[in-house]
Amino acid sequence: MGAPTALLYDERYLLHDSGIEHPESPERLQAVWEYLQRVNFFPSLLLLKPEPAPLEWIELVHDPAYIQRVKETCEKGAAYIDSLDTALCPASYEIALLAVGGVLKLIDAVFQRKARNGFGLIRPPGHHAERDLSLGFCLFNNVAIGARYAQKIYKIKKVLIVDWDVHHGNGTQHCFEGDPSVFYFSAHEYPYYPGTGHSWEKGTGDGYGTVLNIPIPGGTSDKAYLQTFRETFLPLAYHFKPDFIMISAGFDAHKDDPLASLDLTENAYREMTLELKKLAKDSAQERIVSALEGGYNLEALARSVEAHLRALME
Ligand SMILES: [Zn+2]
Repeated sequence: MGAPTALLYDERYLLHDSGIEHPESPERLQAVWEYLQRVNFFPSLLLLKPEPAPLEWIELVHDPAYIQRVKETCEKGAAYIDSLDTALCPASYEIALLAVGGVLKLIDAVFQRKARNGFGLIRPPGHHAERDLSLGFCLFNNVAIGARYAQKIYKIKKVLIVDWDVHHGNGTQHCFEGDPSVFYFSAHEYPYYPGTGHSWEKGTGDGYGTVLNIPIPGGTSDKAYLQTFRETFLPLAYHFKPDFIMISAGFDAHKDDPLASLDLTENAYREMTLELKKLAKDSAQERIVSALEGGYNLEALARSVEAHLRALME
């Protein structure tokens, strides 16, 4: 038996109060956490808890003035920041630091060989957050910060970010589109929120060719989606030879999700996870860190996380 799969969670993630009837609710994490405890593999997971991320790491991706603005907006008791989508409560800044810290903790566990791979059951999500702007429920870009942290602390060169959330991760793409050391791949429903992620967005300057966007029409089911994943994305990913793989693991492309209209089942997440494990074994010493983004039907979310974790553990 090798090192275990890590699951990172903290009840403090529930303290980010997004208000009444907001889809990105504390109940999402509560439902998944309670569900996972009844799953047979739960005792085999390495359970981790986060610490708040130091600002020096958040500043690798975000403007210090923006970080300060998030802090002050929370302290003032504002109900949202930058747009009505991104709800706040006074604790939100601290909890957002804890979400980033969760990803950093998983990266430490994986690079220090305490875990083979790991998943962060975290919120608020991150992939829409820009350098100086919050967007679409996201305050700090958890996965983008994690990629930079892994490069700096563990001296690795190439990071692959796979974003299978149903929405395009505009913030992550913008962070890395000029940088050939990070390959950003997103498959997302299109046309749809946030409106970015055209197939012709392939990176800029030295980073040209290390962004891959695959717009997916509404109604697409597992078979066609996985075929695109395997035939269009995987060859480029193997050619890139990542030293480390991160997943922006939103599960809102599920057929039961209320926010979008793709038709995936849990099995798609299982299949993609298994493919990424093969790639990780090939070039990245098995290192994969995955972090929750979206997913808004509580039952579908719990079952999808289960399928993803089970595949990570196999
Ligand atoms: Zn999403």
